[in-house]
Amino acid sequence: MEKLAILGGEPVRKTPIGYGRHYIDDSDIQAVCDALRGELTCGPKIAEMEKAICALTGAKYCVAVSSGTAALHIAAMAAGVGPGDEVITTPITFAASANCALYCGAKPVFADIHPDTYNIDPKSIRRCITPKTKAIVAVDFTGQAVQLDEIRSICEKHHLILIEDAAHSFGTRYKGTPVGGIADLTTFSFHPVKTVTAGEGGAVTTNDPVLYEKLLLYRSHGITRDRSLMIHPTDDPWYNEQRDLGYNYRITDFQAALLISQMKKLERFAARRRAIVAKYNEAFSQIPQIQIQKEIPESDTTRHLYILRLHGNLLNCTRREFFDALCAENIRPQVHYLPVYWHSYYERLGYQKGLCPNAEAYYKESMSLPLYYSLTDEDVEDVIHAVKKLIAYYKK
Ligand SMILES: *Cc1c(COP(=O)(O)O)cnc(C)c1O
Repeated sequence: MEKLAILGGEPVRKTPIGYGRHYIDDSDIQAVCDALRGELTCGPKIAEMEKAICALTGAKYCVAVSSGTAALHIAAMAAGVGPGDEVITTPITFAASANCALYCGAKPVFADIHPDTYNIDPKSIRRCITPKTKAIVAVDFTGQAVQLDEIRSICEKHHLILIEDAAHSFGTRYKGTPVGGIADLTTFSFHPVKTVTAGEGGAVTTNDPVLYEKLLLYRSHGITRDRSLMIHPTDDPWYNEQRDLGYNYRITDFQAALLISQMKKLERFAARRRAIVAKYNEAFSQIPQIQIQKEIPESDTTRHLYILRLHGNLLNCTRREFFDALCAENIRPQVHYLPVYWHSYYERLGYQKGLCPNAEAYYKESMSLPLYYSLTDEDVEDVIHAVKKLIAYYKK
């Protein structure tokens, strides 16, 4: 038996790697520098970014914003979510997917996940619907599209708005159609850990012109210069009118320029991520202590995360011990995610543990392994080697 690094042996890797990392090349740097000589905000790069996202997703309209969280907020506002409403989402997501309901004075309701795909389970969604339900925020967890056909038919039946949180799934297709052109509203994030980045940034896509007008208003204070949208239009050339309460959720032109430049590499990024996922799956599929995330056949996935799920009852260690041992091998995983309603803020709002058993079981056994474009084959081999070493050491 090889000695474990955590017990004092040589770690598998000399230099540490994390679970995710952005990739910036000279063309990205040049694009940002060029943009800095032009408009800094409200300039032509914004429209260019929106056009590029429409071209990729097939969506009719796109509104670029300052973050994925801002995208979720104005999407929930455009959906008409307000006090007294309920919004169904998954607990296995970043908190922003649920916080957007709270921003609007509504109540997040957590549906459980499917035990094998880890995406929100339509059966559980059905059980959560009440007369107060207004919208569903469905998250394409790890990049795999949710069961959009089934969830859309639930929405049609109950007159709900579907918001797809596609922060993980930029570039994913569902039954051949790109994510972004399918749900009523789709939100993206361009945080550096996501597949393509703008530094910070986000976007909302929709095919509905009415929702589009609302998104534009909410992005920028609720103020419009469009006379046809004004309650009191005047001829004064300086006049603009605040029609609604919005925010400053604008993105800058140099961030948009970075995103446009990154999108030119999206195919390459996606292919590399897929290849790494295939290597991990092949290496781990015969190991009974590891559960491989079930693939959703309708989803042609651009993967954001690779989940290592351990069968705790087949191992002599806790998830925490396995996590620490991987760190000691200089591989630094992360856990995605603490069930949202386990956060102390949600606890204070009255949510209790036990609400979503599949999500809680998943959380206790899982961690995310390194997955990003610039990982080399040697890096991937190191990760596989380290995981296998720990499994051999800890298996019952
Ligand atoms: C990253 C992320 C967000 C938030 O995006 P930001 O750009 O960081 O605000 C929302 N939902 C999910 C699922 C995410 O992964």
